[in-house]
Amino acid sequence: MEKKLQIYNTLTRKKEEFKPLNPDHVGMYVCGPTVYGDGHLGHARPAITFDVLYRLLLSQGYKVRYVRNITDVGHLEHDADDGEDKIAKKAKLEQLEPMEVAQYYTNRYHTAMERLNVLPPSIEPHASGHIIEQIEYIKKIIDAGFAYESQGSVYFDVEKYNSRHHYGKLSGRNIDELLETTRQLDGQDEKRRSVDFALWKKAQPEHIMHWPSPWSDGFPGWHLECSAMGTKYLGEQFDIHGGGIDLVFPHHECEIAQSTAALGHETVRYWMHNNMITINGQKMGKSLGNFITLDEFFNGTSPLLTQAYSPMTIRFFILQAHYRSTVDFSNEALLASQKGLERLEEACARLARLTPSATTTVDIQGLRQRCEEAIADDLNTPIVISHLFDAAKAINTIHDGKATISADDLDELRSVFHTFVEDILGLRIGTAADNNSEAYSKAIDLLLSIRQQAKANKDWPTSDRIRNELTEMGFTIKDTKDGFEWKL
Ligand code: ZN
Repeated sequence: MEKKLQIYNTLTRKKEEFKPLNPDHVGMYVCGPTVYGDGHLGHARPAITFDVLYRLLLSQGYKVRYVRNITDVGHLEHDADDGEDKIAKKAKLEQLEPMEVAQYYTNRYHTAMERLNVLPPSIEPHASGHIIEQIEYIKKIIDAGFAYESQGSVYFDVEKYNSRHHYGKLSGRNIDELLETTRQLDGQDEKRRSVDFALWKKAQPEHIMHWPSPWSDGFPGWHLECSAMGTKYLGEQFDIHGGGIDLVFPHHECEIAQSTAALGHETVRYWMHNNMITINGQKMGKSLGNFITLDEFFNGTSPLLTQAYSPMTIRFFILQAHYRSTVDFSNEALLASQKGLERLEEACARLARLTPSATTTVDIQGLRQRCEEAIADDLNTPIVISHLFDAAKAINTIHDGKATISADDLDELRSVFHTFVEDILGLRIGTAADNNSEAYSKAIDLLLSIRQQAKANKDWPTSDRIRNELTEMGFTIKDTKDGFEWKL
């Protein structure tokens, strides 16, 4: 596929032609999960959004180094009651090594990602494994004069930084407004200004996750890990940095400030952010009582759900909206997506079994180009899906014998479906239209025609056995007036 892509850059607030620093290589960093709890929908959306971008860049022939971190230091998520970090708290309660807790949730996250068919990144660095790099980064910021030590902690001097650069350029905020709104936050006695953020925090005695540093035994500030690990693996300048829109401020704003302070320039060329997920029109949150984990979606065990939804239904549902719009999860919307995905799967199964004729009487001209244009237009997945549904209608007409398709056009149609449905949208289709599954489809057809013959001969044991065993394997078999239909 041609190397062509327009992406919306949060920093410039407009769509831009994507031009990587190196014409053949792309460096891409996405903020990964904080591992302290079970994966939820909020984790699924950035993972799927940037998975599609990763898959597209690979399809366009780029070599991509995709870095997605694991935040396992746990300093971010404090319990409101005692301010203790959650990994440390769980570790103490259950007499576990903190890394056991982090590993447990990392494994669960990986399983959920695998089920959602999200490709693993090229590098998945852990914050806890890059303490030295983070300490070195802090030293650079101190040397440049944009950070100060206070009682064993180190803070970024936002006001001083803002006098030379623009703090707030990504989120569109300004420092006066921030000084106004952050005045009342706690722990600011050590700081010169309420807007200053921690680069290093001295650990309290109850903290069990801490590391030695020139300033104190403590732990790095959250924003720092992405600056340090992004630079370590992608260089002082790289192409794309992504994450959820909730990370624009303060996380990504602080990353820009840190790299500009430490290196003298910004590191990221294109900032991309996916929008949020709501549930029945409400923001999702534990306190709102509408928090659904990915496992609960897959098993249907949440009281908010009327049934289980397959990982591919969740993926398809997320892709049916543009990544920059909000997505609202409701049972009705998920059911509609499930039906839509079934229709697409049926078309894929039929496509694998169509036989060519001499001529083509359906309009599938330009399908590939339309799909390519849509995906290259800032990842417009809903438009790609609508083009695929149009093609599915054509497939059904041919399947019903009301139209025909030539051998060349059939090959092209199968190739477009393979590229877009499986490679780029990343939908796992049971009986997908490729050469391997063609043989597999023919084998199932053969079994079912033997069953038909058995039925005609009134050989009920053979006929029942084929039907029952295929059903047990997960096939749905339907007898039609001129034969049979099946799907997995
Ligand atoms: Zn980050």
